[in-house]
Amino acid sequence: MYLSEDKRFETDIVIVGAGNAAMCAAISAREQGLNVIVLEKSPENEKGGNSAYTHGSIRFAYNSVEDLKQIMPELTPEEIENTDFGAYPEEDFYDDLCRLSEYRTDPELSSLLTSKSFETMKWLQSHKVRFVPIYGRQAFKVDGRFKFWGGMIVESVGGGKGLVDTLHAEGKKSGIQILYNAMATKLIHDDNGVHGVIFKHQGETKEIHAKAVILASGGFHANTEMRTRYLGPKWDIAKVRGSRFNTGEGIQMALNIGAVSNGNWSGAHAVGGDRYAPALGEGFQKLSYPFGIIVNAKGERFVNEGSDFRNYTYANIGKLILEQPGQFAWQIFDKKVAHLLRDEYKLKQVTKVTANSIEELAKKLDGVDTEGFLKNIREYNEAVCKNIPFNPNVKDGLCTEGLPVNKSNWANTLDQAPFEAYAVTCGITFTYGGLKINTKSEVQDIMQQSIPGLYAAGELVGGLFYFNYPGGAGLMAGSVFGKIAGENAAQFVKQSLS
Ligand SMILES: Cc1cc2nc3c(=O)[nH]c(=O)nc-3n(C[C@H](O)[C@H](O)[C@H](O)COP(=O)(O)OP(=O)(O)OC[C@H]3O[C@@H](n4cnc5c(N)ncnc54)[C@H](O)[C@@H]3O)c2cc1C
Repeated sequence: MYLSEDKRFETDIVIVGAGNAAMCAAISAREQGLNVIVLEKSPENEKGGNSAYTHGSIRFAYNSVEDLKQIMPELTPEEIENTDFGAYPEEDFYDDLCRLSEYRTDPELSSLLTSKSFETMKWLQSHKVRFVPIYGRQAFKVDGRFKFWGGMIVESVGGGKGLVDTLHAEGKKSGIQILYNAMATKLIHDDNGVHGVIFKHQGETKEIHAKAVILASGGFHANTEMRTRYLGPKWDIAKVRGSRFNTGEGIQMALNIGAVSNGNWSGAHAVGGDRYAPALGEGFQKLSYPFGIIVNAKGERFVNEGSDFRNYTYANIGKLILEQPGQFAWQIFDKKVAHLLRDEYKLKQVTKVTANSIEELAKKLDGVDTEGFLKNIREYNEAVCKNIPFNPNVKDGLCTEGLPVNKSNWANTLDQAPFEAYAVTCGITFTYGGLKINTKSEVQDIMQQSIPGLYAAGELVGGLFYFNYPGGAGLMAGSVFGKIAGENAAQFVKQSLS
């Protein structure tokens, strides 16, 4: 890259954002021998966007333990012996994307995501990203052996921060330059396509000229106005999880030059997080609800907590809570399942009450109608099909019958003290709507043509996720399409030079 003067930079490829998708794009473009500059809006100490907030849990297709050994060469013979990793073939990953999006996911993009997921994991591993099985959160021990469920079995060492740090270190080693406090505001373009980016760097407007631009600057979940405009009423008051920098400029910049919008603009990934979490931050999600029940201010259940493994339901729970009176709910558990609660229930940042009887608990549930709650608990306990054994590792069919909202699995009765309850509200994680890309990650315009020199990857791409989302697919989508964007942008630049 060539720095010609203070306010004017030149390079081959400029990348907007420095999260997972951006760094995968940067590394893959650099592998093709091109010069790359990354513009990142955040200061260096907040680098990594939403990617840095993740646990690093990542979903990919695999057929056997032999495949897993390629991703995790450090797996020990004991771990292999003591664990049922199952298999998650490409077709299952694809089916999950189709099923959860109610068959609206872009078939070409989602089949590319699933078919490239394993080779992209190997590529990440070749770039020093280390993975380990998620024993703590994705497997329960039954009869002395761990069994994984729900299609997501590994996380990056050090979580999202570990992943981001490794990709940044790899990027730096290969000669990629990252400018922090650099907010992209406009694309430089003409009838022949995109030629660079205008950005604000440490308070000054500057420009960077390039032969290709890759947008990887996340969605708009941290933009109150856009949330309300596109997701609808009450989304302004949702707690914002993750990066405060994902405010949608990347999407806006592309729309402003004629890119077409795509996907589920009124949809977002949103979980049940602590009711009194700060308005912006981690959000303190609470994801063990399949083993208990969730009630609203009337003391009523409003969701089938056990409709599926939590990987396939948690991203939709926040929206349902936002629709309840007062935008809060309580998760209720009894002694039988308390040992199954995830680590996040033990954090200091938790709104929790305990009681030795259901009546005592009812009085402690702030904002909940006591009589309504007691009536609903009675009816729930009576409706449980008590002859079915409980098994947290499989969809056990332990259900209720005859309720307005039944529970399909893990429907233990609530009758063993002590009881525990956790107050939750809606925490938005990321938005689903965004730009349209083709299978080369080229951004499409309103005429459904590729905009020359413009590529996109990650959260700001629309069309993959609608209504719901399989856990771990966000990082995988960023890596798969980031790598593809880097390769194709490099190809485009080489052709334009030849
Ligand atoms: C708390 C939390 C937990 C999660 N857990 C998981 C998980 O375990 N597994 C999983 O798969 N997904 C998880 N997700 C979702 C996942 O984080 C995202 O799907 C994924 O990280 C998005 O990657 P990205 O690179 O597209 O965006 P990001 O990682 O958000 O990166 C976007 C970057 O662009 C920068 N940026 C924004 N605007 C500009 C601008 N104008 N100019 C320059 N830079 C800009 C931002 O500062 C940011 O660094 C989680 C999200 C959160 C918030």
